[in-house]
Amino acid sequence: MPSIQLQRLVKRYGGLEVLHGIDLDMAENEFTVLVGPSGCGKSTTLRMLAGLESVSDGDIVVDGRSIAHLDPKDRDIAMVFQDYALYPHMNVARNMSFSLRLKKRPRDEIDRKVRATAEMLGLTPYLDRKPGELSGGQRQRVAMGRALCRDAGIFLFDEPLSNLDAKLRGQMRAELAMMRQSVRKNMVYVTHDQIEAMTLADRIVVMNGGHIQQQGTPSELFRRPVNRFVAGFLGSPP
Ligand code: ADP
Ligand code: MG
Repeated sequence: MPSIQLQRLVKRYGGLEVLHGIDLDMAENEFTVLVGPSGCGKSTTLRMLAGLESVSDGDIVVDGRSIAHLDPKDRDIAMVFQDYALYPHMNVARNMSFSLRLKKRPRDEIDRKVRATAEMLGLTPYLDRKPGELSGGQRQRVAMGRALCRDAGIFLFDEPLSNLDAKLRGQMRAELAMMRQSVRKNMVYVTHDQIEAMTLADRIVVMNGGHIQQQGTPSELFRRPVNRFVAGFLGSPP
């Protein structure tokens, strides 16, 4: 499993700089959670990792090798989006097997992978259904399953639970925490939900205004926030 380094990473849109040189080290198998208010640069950071946005300055290094200018398809990365972005005309099984079919992997390997992943996510009864015939929570699981079936080394999640109601979000949060035990991968997870951050993270990175305010384990940040912003954001005692 890879380690990931962001080195003085900068993003500019036209003349406007929105990420001001971010430094971040993620160890292998670490579950890193990026938190911070809307507009602070979480999605931009994730999209640059995935190669969906260009890097304006600085570098992204995975296992000692720069990937900053690699094509998205040549990166060992799978991403789960906030709006799921499922293929509406394909059933669950075909959504999940999409990238393996694209890579022309053997049929039995694809079937095995899809069945095992569906089983883990409780999707076995729904493999023949189209996304439009599923609930929000089930669609969210399919998006997760499709990413897991890609067999990438790095998984990126951009607020995957934000479209679910509070009850389902709580349930999915617990399921994610369980999945995390069985799928040992590098995960970078964006949320603006403090509870999600505190329950899922090995390491929390608090961002604000295109800067990293603080990073550390959940308990380090909770007990020793470096400033009021971090304290307020994670609900630490004053
Ligand atoms: P977050 O995910 O933390 O809510 P984003 O990474 O989406 O924040 O956005 C960070 C900043 O970059 C915001 O000020 C946003 O308006 C700006 N931004 C994001 N995408 C674009 C774009 N395509 N063009 C111009 N500005 C953008
Ligand atoms: Mg965002």
